[in-house]
Amino acid sequence: MSVQVTGVKNIPLIKKGDNLAEIICKNTEFADGDIICVASTVVSKAKGYTKALASITPSEDAYRISKMTKEDPRFLQGILDTSKEVIIEYPFILSEVPCGHVGVRAGVDNSNIEGENIILLPKDPSAEANDIRDGIKKICGEDVGVIVTDTCGRAFRRGQCGTAIGWAGMSAIRDFRGDHDLFGLELHITEEAVVDEIAAFSNFIMGESNNGIPVVKFSGCEKWKGHDSLYFTKEEDFIRKALHK
Ligand code: GDP
Ligand code: MN
Ligand code: MN
Repeated sequence: MSVQVTGVKNIPLIKKGDNLAEIICKNTEFADGDIICVASTVVSKAKGYTKALASITPSEDAYRISKMTKEDPRFLQGILDTSKEVIIEYPFILSEVPCGHVGVRAGVDNSNIEGENIILLPKDPSAEANDIRDGIKKICGEDVGVIVTDTCGRAFRRGQCGTAIGWAGMSAIRDFRGDHDLFGLELHITEEAVVDEIAAFSNFIMGESNNGIPVVKFSGCEKWKGHDSLYFTKEEDFIRKALHK
């Protein structure tokens, strides 16, 4: 497989109401089977998933956590409002958001937005990916896979990586179970999180600060087969169970 990876240039500063599919199609050409990664930050800005800190009234919980983390209680309230379940409160909030993704500070960000505002994760990132995919299909006729990404910290390892929080036009996981290795051994547990691998590399092109590259195109990825159960159920998730001991 030979894959070409390109940062899409000339995307403007995104504001509420912008049509991302249109903006993306204006700035790059597609071939059938291309995949794009779109930073959740611009999806949220386009859809208005942002909040002015001044508009947030912190709860008692936000004030309580703020005493420990020394963060702005309004910022913490934004995180709590975005969270479905808080797993850790200190030294940072780690929580699950409604789509099943687990992230530090629920993925709430105060960078790459002007003024005293915060960016929340899109509520249904796979639906957003699907909207962008449909939009691209309508505008330029090509069948393009879309991954909505966020930069996330990882357990056990230093350093953040791009992570897929939503996807459309592909399976999240390439399933190797039932395949045989080079020596004929049947694989029983190997499932590859391809959407995360692609998201991680896209983050290398996007960068974190002022690159201005929120969209990265991958051309030449071979198709894969699998499923979409990217998130462990609570029953399957031994690490999460251990955290609650
Ligand atoms: P996140 O990983 O989704 O939280 O997004 P980041 O804040 O890390 O931004 C990812 C990339 O998108 C970086 O290259 C940013 O400079 C860029 N970026 C963020 N917002 C905008 C925007 O409104 N317009 C453009 N052109 N780039 C943006
Ligand atoms: Mn982010
Ligand atoms: Mn990032």
